[in-house]
Amino acid sequence: MPSQVKRDLPCGAGFGIIRGMETEMKTSTVQVGTYGVNCTILRFGAKAWVVDPGAEGERIAAMLAADGAAAEAILLTHGHFDHIGGIPALQRAFPDAKVYIHPGDVPMLGHPLNQCPPDYPRIAAPANVEDCRALGGVTVLETPGHTPGGVCYWFPESKLLLSGDTLFAGSVGRTDFPGGSMARLVDSLKALAALPEDAMVVPGHGPCTTIGREKASNPYM
Ligand SMILES: [Zn+2]
Repeated sequence: MPSQVKRDLPCGAGFGIIRGMETEMKTSTVQVGTYGVNCTILRFGAKAWVVDPGAEGERIAAMLAADGAAAEAILLTHGHFDHIGGIPALQRAFPDAKVYIHPGDVPMLGHPLNQCPPDYPRIAAPANVEDCRALGGVTVLETPGHTPGGVCYWFPESKLLLSGDTLFAGSVGRTDFPGGSMARLVDSLKALAALPEDAMVVPGHGPCTTIGREKASNPYM
C-alpha cells in the first residue's frame, strides 16, 4: 500500500489512497444539474462510489460504464433534492448500488416537499438505504447545521474532504431550511478547522479550496 498522498491536480481530479483497499483511488468531480452540484466519483479498479449524484444520473452512469466501472455505493452528504436527483437513474443502471446517508436526513428521501420542479421533480425514497456511518474506508464526520443529518466524507490518507453544503470556498451552507441550525453549523465548522491545513476540500457547490485557506479567509470559520 503506498504511503504517500498522491494528487495530480489541484482540485477534485487525481489520485489518492483509501483505507483498506488494495488499489489506488482515482477521483474526479463533475458538476451536475441546474444548481451545479459537485458530484465526485471515487474509483477503485472496477468499483466506484458516487458522492452526491444530484442530477444527470444517466450521464454519471455512462461515464462509469465508459470507464469499465460499476457503482457499488452512492454516498450522500445530505438529503436535499439537488444532491439526490440522479439516484433513480444510477440505481437503474447499477441495481446493487446502496445509498449511504446519515439517519438524520433519511426523512428527506421521498418527502413531498423535497423537490423543485421542473428540474428536480420529487423522487421516490430509494431502495437499499444504509447508515453512512457504517461505511468502511472513509471517515464520516457528522456535521449538522445545514441539515440535521449532514456529513462530510474525510479520506485522511488522501487528505481529501468532501464537505457537502457544510463548507464552501469563502462561505457556508444556508441554515434557514427546515432542520437547519447556525449554532450547530458553527460547531461543525470547528471540527473541520482541526483538519490539516493542506486538506483539499471539494464542497457541494462552487470551487474547491483547502482547510488552511478557509481558516485564513472564511468569515464563518
Ligand atoms: Zn443542501
